[in-house]
Amino acid sequence: MPRLLEPTMLWDGTRFQRDRRLLIDDDGRIAAVGSVAELEGDPERMHGAMMPGLVNGHSHAFQFALRGRAERFGLVQGSFWSWRDAMYDLVDSLDADRCHELSLASFNEMITHGVTTVGEFHYVRHDDAQDHRLDDAVMVAAEDAGIRMVKLVTCYQTGDIGKPLEGAQARFDTVSVDEYLRRLDTIQSRLDGRLQTIGMVAHSVRAVAIEDIVRLHRVSVERGLPFHIHVEEAPKEIESCQASHGCTPMRLLLDHGVVTPNVVAVHCTHSQPDDMRDYVAAGGQVCLCPITEGNLGDGIADIPVMRECGASLSVGTDLNSRTDLLEELRWLEYVQRVARQKRGVIVDANGDNGRELLRIDTEGGARALGLDAGRIEPGALADLVLFDHEHDSLAAADEDELAAALIFGASGRVISRVIVDGVDA
Ligand SMILES: [Zn+2]
Repeated sequence: MPRLLEPTMLWDGTRFQRDRRLLIDDDGRIAAVGSVAELEGDPERMHGAMMPGLVNGHSHAFQFALRGRAERFGLVQGSFWSWRDAMYDLVDSLDADRCHELSLASFNEMITHGVTTVGEFHYVRHDDAQDHRLDDAVMVAAEDAGIRMVKLVTCYQTGDIGKPLEGAQARFDTVSVDEYLRRLDTIQSRLDGRLQTIGMVAHSVRAVAIEDIVRLHRVSVERGLPFHIHVEEAPKEIESCQASHGCTPMRLLLDHGVVTPNVVAVHCTHSQPDDMRDYVAAGGQVCLCPITEGNLGDGIADIPVMRECGASLSVGTDLNSRTDLLEELRWLEYVQRVARQKRGVIVDANGDNGRELLRIDTEGGARALGLDAGRIEPGALADLVLFDHEHDSLAAADEDELAAALIFGASGRVISRVIVDGVDA
């Protein structure tokens, strides 16, 4: 049955407005948005401010298990690589039941914090005897949590450029591009049609040979699927690529024509400005994971360059050491302020910081995952969240200040209701 909703306030893309209603059709899409007079009927009245559901553009849900575990450091300081050792220990012990348990815990936490869609970049492969069991475990967990998921199926073949897989990496092995494509088709046939879609992934230039990245990317374009890849998170990846190919990973992708509007480079922490300008000019998008980049001590991305050249940005919780997109957005801005001794780095044409950050997560996130969502307009998916605008942490903000107050002064705990595909989660 169609639903007519009347929240106390409704986000119109620029501000929260009172006396607005929206109609959701049976297909889980927004059918109409209008004033109380325009949309007649007996509405469901909801106390709170409604906005598009938050989009988590990049997650490895099973890494939820590492929360608190990889935070003890010895005489030698930790890094991305020491964290990766802890992650490999976890991978060694991961069976389908544990994968489901961890993914469900992670997805449930996302839902309670207002995340309606997750881009799940899953790269731990089933073992040979139990084909697809870990992929299935993640898909079932998303279904159980009631979250929309874009299953980002990952190709992973080498331990570093031209090097064989070692130890726990064997669990990531996708063998060949042909085998990967067979698996992609099988996983696609098992998706929960309404809430799950698929995307393609080459893990990184470390993990997939450039010739195979080219082939995978070509298929993603032919099939109209998002194509995600980790790019330049750590200097070692760049050094390795320079040694093997004589250029940076991003330049390698550019030189091989692997940049089109469906491509999302995750991190870009150490990307060169000239590479970034060419990457964005070719249509490439960037997904940033500021809490993860802070947790791992990765470094600080050059967001002003991305913004100057008009990059479409999104954010993700990546290793899920914390699951709160509002905090990700806060970190996105604050790290830049601290690094540049400047306030208001990520702002819209009117200088509005909160509105632009919210747009990055919702519209940018949906674009990164190939979904018509992230906006409250007719035709878009009815993925929505309601938050308590009278919560103690927001009580001082008026309608115009509410988006910024939400990001800089509140946490996902203020979310009071989550609607996915038109249905309460
Ligand atoms: Zn990642």
